Amino acid sequence: MEKVDYSKMITPLDYKCGKCDATGCKLWREYQTFSPRLLCVDCACRDQKKINNVDSEGLRVDDDGMQTDQVGWYVPAVPTKDGGGYCGYLDVPDAAVKWWEQLPLRTGIIATA
Ligand SMILES: [Zn+2]
Repeated sequence: MEKVDYSKMITPLDYKCGKCDATGCKLWREYQTFSPRLLCVDCACRDQKKINNVDSEGLRVDDDGMQTDQVGWYVPAVPTKDGGGYCGYLDVPDAAVKWWEQLPLRTGIIATA
């Protein structure tokens, strides 16, 4: 993956949904997977059979009434600065958290490559 500049609302080229190819928006990744599949909000909710109630910051209320940024087994996909992987779920730098939160939930942009 390319390097990521957290000050810009630009996503890496291969930061796209593994199902519908949506790109330029928030994505979630499979938890604890070395080379995880990325899913957009709609595909993640469908895949995990969760109510699609995610807000613009990427938060949703889970079945137990708790607010969470996870969708089932999927957690926010925040690329590391060098593009070499993803920040650990509990170890995401502030700038990276902000970057992810500010990405649009949906863009309607489908990658053509
Ligand atoms: Zn998708």
